[in-house]
Amino acid sequence: MAKIKKIGVLTSGGDAPGMNAAIRAVVRSAYYYGLEIVGIHYGYRGLMEGDMSPLGMRSVSSIIQRGGTILHTARCLEFATPEGVSTAVETARSNGIDGLVVIGGDGSFRGAKELSEAGLPTIGIPGTIDNDIACTDYTIGFDTACNIAVEAIDRLRDTSESHNRCSVVEVMGHRAGYLALDIGVASGALAVLIPERECDLKKEIYDKIEAHEKSHYIVVVSEGCEISSAQVAKLIEENTGMTTRLTVLGHIQRGGAPSALDRVNAIKLGYRAVDLLYKGIGNRVVAIRSSELIDYDIQEALDMKKTIPEDLYKIAQIVSM
Ligand code: ATP
Repeated sequence: MAKIKKIGVLTSGGDAPGMNAAIRAVVRSAYYYGLEIVGIHYGYRGLMEGDMSPLGMRSVSSIIQRGGTILHTARCLEFATPEGVSTAVETARSNGIDGLVVIGGDGSFRGAKELSEAGLPTIGIPGTIDNDIACTDYTIGFDTACNIAVEAIDRLRDTSESHNRCSVVEVMGHRAGYLALDIGVASGALAVLIPERECDLKKEIYDKIEAHEKSHYIVVVSEGCEISSAQVAKLIEENTGMTTRLTVLGHIQRGGAPSALDRVNAIKLGYRAVDLLYKGIGNRVVAIRSSELIDYDIQEALDMKKTIPEDLYKIAQIVSM
């Protein structure tokens, strides 16, 4: 394979705090290896349309602490077709790009695999607050989103306590409950409802409220649950008589400065992605497992199944008594 001389970087899917730290690491690592680097705007759409500009060494100064993504992001259905992928590869070629780094979730990795197979070596970096990518312990943005939600719930706890209320808090996580579970445990919730587990509301919420002498409660509901958070709040009020308030945290969890952990992980992953391309290796996802920096074939990574940590789910129930 011819040596890679110029690489592109893009962010795709939902944004996540720490993506900028990863972009910075990609740019600085590219300079370290003597590679040219361009930033592609609005994900795969920008790649198809040639919406890109060179990234100078200093162009990524002072972005390490910023949430969002300076490259912007998008979901692009036109790209996810054989024609879309060929257009993207042709546009990359005509701009002299011979390697690509894609920061995003598993949908973005499917695109990265298609590009690699079509002749553009591409590396995926897991970036999503949902932590729903099986090959890695942490995705960029997860830790920050957890911390933002926990901080918000601490505030809700103050007011719930003052008014003797139950606060139901809906958190993000797409179809997965990883984010909700960590948030629920860290915020001392009475119960955490996640899409992967049935929740017996009577046993896990109403009976506990009746048995306790506490005046206030927190219940965390993942947005992916079949039952809506509004329904949960209504049922708790109807079945326990306790005044209940619903708060939907929504996109607040996606913004703000990334945590130190997200920055460190983003920087490690960004460096490794460029290191692989420099060595002529594409079609990989970089990951962190047991604090180790590793990489997988994209299809192998996509085929891995992630499951809810049973021990944590059980501990959450035990300590919420
Ligand atoms: P998040 O976890 O934040 O949702 P994601 O990367 O999973 O991130 P998606 O919307 O699923 O987000 O995918 C992002 C983009 O990746 C899509 O808009 C599309 O352009 C591309 N993509 C998704 N699936 C495929 C596929 N099967 N083949 C080619 N490209 C795909």
